[in-house]
Amino acid sequence: MARPHPVDIAPPDLSGWAASPTGVPYVHERASGVPGPEVLLTALVHGNEYAGALALDAFLRSGVAPRCGRITAAFCNVAAFARFDPRTPDASRFVDEDFNRVWSPDLLDGPRTSAELQRARAIRPLVDRATHLLDLHSMHEPCAPLLVTGTLPRNIAFAQALGTGGQAVVDAGHADGVRMRDYGPFGDAAGDRIALLLEAGQHWDRASVSAARNVLMRFLVGCGVLQRTDVPLGWLLPDAPAPAPVSVTHRVVARSMQFEFVQDYRGGETIRHAGTPIAHDAGEPVRTPYDDCVLVMPSVRQLRPGVTTVRLGRRAMAQASVG
Ligand SMILES: [Zn+2]
Repeated sequence: MARPHPVDIAPPDLSGWAASPTGVPYVHERASGVPGPEVLLTALVHGNEYAGALALDAFLRSGVAPRCGRITAAFCNVAAFARFDPRTPDASRFVDEDFNRVWSPDLLDGPRTSAELQRARAIRPLVDRATHLLDLHSMHEPCAPLLVTGTLPRNIAFAQALGTGGQAVVDAGHADGVRMRDYGPFGDAAGDRIALLLEAGQHWDRASVSAARNVLMRFLVGCGVLQRTDVPLGWLLPDAPAPAPVSVTHRVVARSMQFEFVQDYRGGETIRHAGTPIAHDAGEPVRTPYDDCVLVMPSVRQLRPGVTTVRLGRRAMAQASVG
């Protein structure tokens, strides 16, 4: 297995957010008193992904308040985060199970319990009321930032309009459990709720904190609870055009511990010709299935048989055909 990536940023001290007037530890609100969007910003859904928590902590300290509606900030899996150890930084992703696979009513309402289910049940009322959710994550590898939109056009359009650049990745979620951003009304095609998941970059890179800060403020402006002039200096990165969204069609799953990419991919690469080898696994080439295949979140950091090593996708908007 690959060595953990170096830890270049120190974890935030969140102890000041433990007690909360909301009654839910590590959940804080900034309310305008004026009707408007119910925005939920979440970090630490995975306990070792604290670049987003640094951005959320800075937001709460910034004094920025919504012009309308309410902004709720939630540090989610704080029990896992509390176990973070820079010598084994991948070990604190969760305590008992992945917090981002429990968001189905049968699990949330069911009899089973775990550290993550307890926390999800405490946070669920905030998710239920949210009209807009931004869930801040980061990645094992130093990949370019990307926004995961799910498959509904309204989320793809919202992501494309943020001006963050990077990829918008259209995927249908995980077979092994429901993510928070796919929960209930967020997945209702007839609804109007917005839910995006940011993968800000490598977990412990400084650039991931900058990306999370940028997307957080742009999201608040996009929701209409802030105006761009409300954003304090130093939060925004330059406006960047959004490339066409990528629809995930395949997951490449490692069959052996001998899985190796042919290049140091960072995600977003477009492989021109079908049949091009992108990796070798158990002595066999792994080839792209179609022309103009886009690589999404390549990672061998957690390599073992059965683990997803890269997603493959198509750009949703092809060039206009000629003739
Ligand atoms: Zn994550």
